[in-house]
Amino acid sequence: MRIDKYLANMNVGSRKEVHSLIKKKVVTVNGELVTTPKQQVKEDDLVVVDGNEIAYQQYHYFLLNKPKGVISATEDRSQQTVISLLKTKDRYQGIAPVGRLDKDTTGLLLLTNDGALAHELLAPNKHVTKVYRAKISGVASEGTIKTFASGITLGDGTKLKPAKLEILAQDKVHNLSQIEIQIQEGKYHQIKRMFGAVGMKVLELDRISMGKLSLPTDLKRGQYQEITRDKIK
Ligand code: URA
Repeated sequence: MRIDKYLANMNVGSRKEVHSLIKKKVVTVNGELVTTPKQQVKEDDLVVVDGNEIAYQQYHYFLLNKPKGVISATEDRSQQTVISLLKTKDRYQGIAPVGRLDKDTTGLLLLTNDGALAHELLAPNKHVTKVYRAKISGVASEGTIKTFASGITLGDGTKLKPAKLEILAQDKVHNLSQIEIQIQEGKYHQIKRMFGAVGMKVLELDRISMGKLSLPTDLKRGQYQEITRDKIK
């Protein structure tokens, strides 16, 4: 690939900025000064800019603890997006959330520019398990557990796969429940619609894991960390 593309992909700067770095004679490949942006480089070449080695990494994976109030999109005219929570240096070309959490849902969201991996994680036949904790208006019972386990049908006729519901706490006086739920699908507003189908309302929703990935306890809302592909697959 061309050196200007390589450096732009690595977020060293825009193509224009990279061209000016080359003009300034601060870019070397394997110890040789780069004189043209057209110069070809390979991923295992030693590229140095201004004395700093630039390691090539095509794909990046960030684990975000999504706060409330931001939307799961790459850009939006009026609303804050999950991508805007990344530092500028981490906003790699093509980076996007893997699936969506509602604006008022919190918790684990993976952001990556590895489109093939994102596609795999979202594929309906891959059954990647997602675990959520939620505060519910209504008292969930053994009956609710059985209903969800048998695969409920939503109001619009959508038949869902079996879901595992666990009741963590019940407050009969205030008509509230704390629950944990595991689902294998990722349909639009799925958990809110599931509880809606049994006459309950989701008040708070937090995703705590997706497949092999869990939210580290020390990762605060709005914070993120870079992880390796091995942690996901
Ligand atoms: N189910 C929902 O209803 N909302 C989410 O954000 C995720 C799952």
